[in-house]
This record gives sequence, structure tokens and C-alpha cells, in this order.
Amino acid sequence: MRNILVVEDSPLVLKILESMFRQQADLQPLFCASMAEAQVLLETSAALFFAAIVDLNLPDAENGEIVDLVLQYQLPCIVLTGSYNEQRREEMLLKGVVDYVQKENQYSYDYAFRLLHRLERNRSIKILVAEDSQATRHLIRNVLRSHLYQIHEAEDGEQALRILQEQPDFDLLITDHSMPGLSGFALTKLLRQKLQRHDLSIVGLSADSKGSLSAQFIKHGADDFLRKPFCPEELTCRVTSTLERREMLKALQRSAQIDSLTNLYNRRAFYEQAGQLLQAAERSQRPVSVAMLDLDLFKQINDNYGHASGDAALIGFAGLLQQAFGQTLIGRLGGEEFALLSPLPAPQLSAQLDQLRGQCAAVAYAPNAPSLSFSAGVYQGHGEELGTLLHQADLRLYQAKRQGRGRCCLNLEAPADASAIA
Ligand code: GH3
Ligand code: MG
Ligand code: MG
Ligand code: MG
Repeated sequence: MRNILVVEDSPLVLKILESMFRQQADLQPLFCASMAEAQVLLETSAALFFAAIVDLNLPDAENGEIVDLVLQYQLPCIVLTGSYNEQRREEMLLKGVVDYVQKENQYSYDYAFRLLHRLERNRSIKILVAEDSQATRHLIRNVLRSHLYQIHEAEDGEQALRILQEQPDFDLLITDHSMPGLSGFALTKLLRQKLQRHDLSIVGLSADSKGSLSAQFIKHGADDFLRKPFCPEELTCRVTSTLERREMLKALQRSAQIDSLTNLYNRRAFYEQAGQLLQAAERSQRPVSVAMLDLDLFKQINDNYGHASGDAALIGFAGLLQQAFGQTLIGRLGGEEFALLSPLPAPQLSAQLDQLRGQCAAVAYAPNAPSLSFSAGVYQGHGEELGTLLHQADLRLYQAKRQGRGRCCLNLEAPADASAIA
């Protein structure tokens, strides 16, 4: 829960804000109707606030004095104003307010709330600013800090490269083009050999008036470009839109890999990851075992307790698997069928699965329903391909089903029986 200081005297605007805050479970507003009230609150409890939304025209502060007060306490400040004034807007943005929003319609209020949520996300975003001009570097730092980003600085391209190699968790690089040594352009080309857009976003920066430079930057892998001099608002807009594109890309990637019901890898991602793990295991000559798991008589759960309970059972079982096999590759291959790829020898993996069977009673998927049960087939590889490993584990799984379910099979019965199953 985040506390938001709201300083506003208009009863109409307060009513709108109150109703909007009611729809935001994670934001708690504290309303003040004057600068004096806000001052008392800030003097005693500034540390409790996450951000402030303020009106520029208050009964006891008619010229935006509230902004200086809020900024003194280093609180991100969103200005809501009834009238648009270009000069005032510039002045406010230079002071370091997050944004200057005109109270026009529903969209303006939605926008202010989107900003609040954006601020929340920004706190975990790391940005590196590579720029040899100290003045520009500091301008960028100050503007972006008011949006709560974590800002780091590099004085030239080489230093930026070093920092990015040492700390691979940066989200965005803003790089000037013309710097001593490694230029921003060369830095972008170098970085893009290893890092894709979803790893690191790049925004190029240059005072060069040639239009072709921006195109060159983007062709060589920058996500956007900004010409100097720029206004603070343009900088934050471009940074925000670049980061939002990156978040969308990551969400898309995630939804293509992760099963939305259980949060486990889906079949495709399991195959991809397993392929890589198999290659690594082969190189280092480590054993690999594969287990195929299938919930027993699962159709009856759906039939007897409803599909939603079936879903709850799948979610609960996936949670158990993740708890028990945290470091192991786990996938939901489809329906109520799961697979594991483990560095353990098969007998050990099988013993762990038997332990897991004991924990299935903890999955409460429907009132008075019996404990979940599953069957498994485990096979230890000898250099075979993934498809063969899974097939061998599957044969053992079907044997476990035939032998009465609720068990794990390691070895196939006599070949005659095995061929009968296949
Ligand atoms: P067995 O012990 O032989 O495996 O029997 P079973 O009933 O588990 O096997 P069967 O293949 O006959 O039925 C599997 C059922 O799983 C059928 C299908 O409707 C259900 N199922 C598959 N995916 C989901 C899902 O995402 N949610 C729910 N609730 N049910 C699912
Ligand atoms: Mg420069
Ligand atoms: Mg089943
Ligand atoms: Mg099945």
C-alpha cells in the first residue's frame, strides 16, 4: 500500500479523485485542502508518502508554491492544473516535477494514475547515462531521478561498456554519440552483438543536426533517438515509451513460454530448455534423468467436483512440484501431464517423487475430495536425444498406470510386455 499526498481545494476535483482512488486498492490518498495543512503533514510524516498530486492554485498559495514544498521533501510531484500555461509548464518541469497534467477530462485523471503506477515500476529500473558533457549528464540524471529511476553515469563509451559488462542487470542505456574514444554509435553496434532489445534498450543522443544519424543509430540497434538540446518532457516520454515497449516484449515472451494456469514452462519452452540442458550435461558428462508424471483419474475430479476444482488441483500440484524440485526443469506438457529433467540418477529422482506423493494430501482443491494421486515413469539417459528420453519415460509411466496407478516405474517389464505397451 502506497500513501499519496493530495493537495487540492476544489470540492469537484476532490470528488473525482476520491472515486478514482477507491478503484486503486494499492494507493491510499491523504487529502489536504491548503498549503498550510500539507506543510504540517509533511513536517511530521513526509517519510510515509510515496508521491504527491498537487493543485497549483491553492487558497493560501496561488502561484504553485506547493510544488517547492513537496520537492523539498524529495517526493515525486505530479501537478494538476486547471489552466494551461506554456511558460509555467516549462518552469515546473525544470524544477523536477514528474508531469504537468491539465484537469480537462477523465483521460487527464487516468493519465495521472498511470503516472503513479509507472513511478512504482520505475524504482526497479536501472538506467545508464553515457555522456561526456557533465552538464547534459546531470540534466538527464535530474530529470529521470524525479521519475524514481535508478540512474548510473558513465563519462565515455569505454566506461559505459565496462559498467555494462560488470553489471548485466541494466534495463536502458542512454548514450551520446560524440564522445572521446568509443562513440555512442560504435558502443551500440558492439552491445547489439551480444544483447538483444529485450536484454537492454538503447536510446541514442546527439547534437548533430544531420537527420541521417538518428536513422543510423536505429538501424544499428538503438530503440530510439533524441536530438540535443531536448526538453525534459521529451526525454521522459521517449524513455517511458522505450521501456513500455520492452515490458510488452518481455510479457509477450513470457506468455509464449509460461503456462498461464500453473506458471510452469509450457511444452515448447520445456523442449527448448531441456535441449540446452542436455547439451551441457553431455559436454560435462553428467547424468540426466527424465520423469513423466500424470495425475490419476483426473477426469473424475472434473466430473465430480467441477472444472474449477480441477484447475485448483493442477495449480496446487504445480506448486508442490516447484517446491520440491526448485532447481529442476519442470514443464506442463499438456492437460494433467508434467515432465522433469533432473541431474539426479533415476533411482534418486524416483525416491523424491515417492516423497512428493506423500505431500499430495496438502493440495486442497475441493471440500471433502480425496487426495491427489499421480503416476510417474523415470528414465536415466545414456546420450539419447530428448524425444527418446521422453518416450522411454512415457513407456514407464504407462506401465505405472497399468500396474494400478499411484506409483513410479523405473524399469520396464520383460521386452514382450514392453512391445505390447508400445
Ligand atoms: P488416468 O489415470 O488414466 O490418467 O486417467 P485421467 O482421468 O487422468 O485421464 P484422461 O486422459 O481420461 O483425462 C484427463 C482429463 O484432464 C481430461 C481433461 O478434461 C482434463 N484436463 C486437461 N486439461 C485440463 C485443465 O487445464 N483443467 C482441467 N480442469 N481439466 C483439464
Ligand atoms: Mg559528446
Ligand atoms: Mg491422468
Ligand atoms: Mg493424461
